[in-house]
Order: sequence, then C-alpha cells, then structure tokens
Amino acid sequence: MRVNKPKTCRYCGGPCDYRVSRCRACKDKGLGVPTAKDRLLSKILRNESTDCWEFTGYLLPNGYGRIAGRRGEGPNLAHRVSWLVHRGEIPAGMLVCHTCDNRKCVNPDHLFLGTQSDNLQDMKSKGRGKIPNPLPTTRGESHWKNKLTKEQVSEIRSRSSESRKALAVEFKTTPRYISSIISGTKWKWLKGSKRL
Ligand SMILES: [Zn+2]
Ligand SMILES: [Zn+2]
Repeated sequence: MRVNKPKTCRYCGGPCDYRVSRCRACKDKGLGVPTAKDRLLSKILRNESTDCWEFTGYLLPNGYGRIAGRRGEGPNLAHRVSWLVHRGEIPAGMLVCHTCDNRKCVNPDHLFLGTQSDNLQDMKSKGRGKIPNPLPTTRGESHWKNKLTKEQVSEIRSRSSESRKALAVEFKTTPRYISSIISGTKWKWLKGSKRL
C-alpha cells in the first residue's frame, strides 16, 4: 500500500503538493520550473570534432530533435527552440536551417534563418535533394565505425579500376568494404560519385 508522506517545499520549507517537492506558491513564482533553455541544454552532447551540440532527447524519424513545449503548448523542434532561446524570435514563414547539415544539432552558431527556397538551395548545393532516411547522422563520416570521409569515398569510386586490395591498404580498410563502396551498397546516399 502506498503511503503519501508529507513533503516539504524545497524552496520555502512549507508544506508542498503531493509528489512535488515544491509548494504551489513557489511554483507560481516560477521557482524550480526549468526554462526552455534549461531543458534544452540538459539534453545535449557536444561533439568535439564538429562542435555540434547533438540533441540526446527524442528524435523524429526525419532526424530532428523534439522537445516538449510548456504547458498548453505543443512540442517544438529542438533546433527551433535553440534559436528562440539563444537568438530570439523566428519570423513567420522563416525556417531555422543548419550550416552543419546535422539535423539533431542545436548549436546556435550552426543555425541560420532561411526561407524554404534557401533551404532547398542549401540542400541542393550539398548534394542532398532528398530527405534523408533514416537519421542522417548515423551515416557517413559521422558514423562511429566509419573512418572514411566523403572525399575519400569519392576518390575510391573514381579509382574503381584499381585493385581492391591496394585501395584497402591505402585507405586502411578491408577489400570487402572497398567493394561495397564501389558497388554502391555502402555510402549509397553520397550522390554524384557512384559509378553506374
Ligand atoms: Zn514553497
Ligand atoms: Zn552542428
């Protein structure tokens, strides 16, 4: 059987609400209520090599982080919340875009405001016309197992007439991996470099 022990407010020492160590008066004053910034910053992991602040909370299937809104507000995209708390308002119709191409990144220095067409232009210039699926950051050079860069993969593909074994030695990987890069089984998403 559950016994409800009386609790003391952490902020004023008075009696507090059931299951919350904070009384109603303190709650109304906003004490102990984490701000959107607190909530966002408690869920990031800094990537030391890219300086991306990677969101560790819930990720949507399209790779963007999602964070709960305040009471009465719907959930928000984590990178948009980051813009709001670090930079300010997002004008209507504007998108918060990534310079780093890492959708779960919420580092305000990696974000910029753009229109839908800027965003498409940006994706195009980075060779990404399609919405990546699954999460973009589990692929390519940021994948923990993967030591090759995009440039190296392109180079391997351009030198596909050379021996797999020699390429494997040069790029410090296995001939099997070289074959799968050349055939397009691996790094399939890296456009414009696949030999058809
Ligand atoms: Zn109190
Ligand atoms: Zn970033």
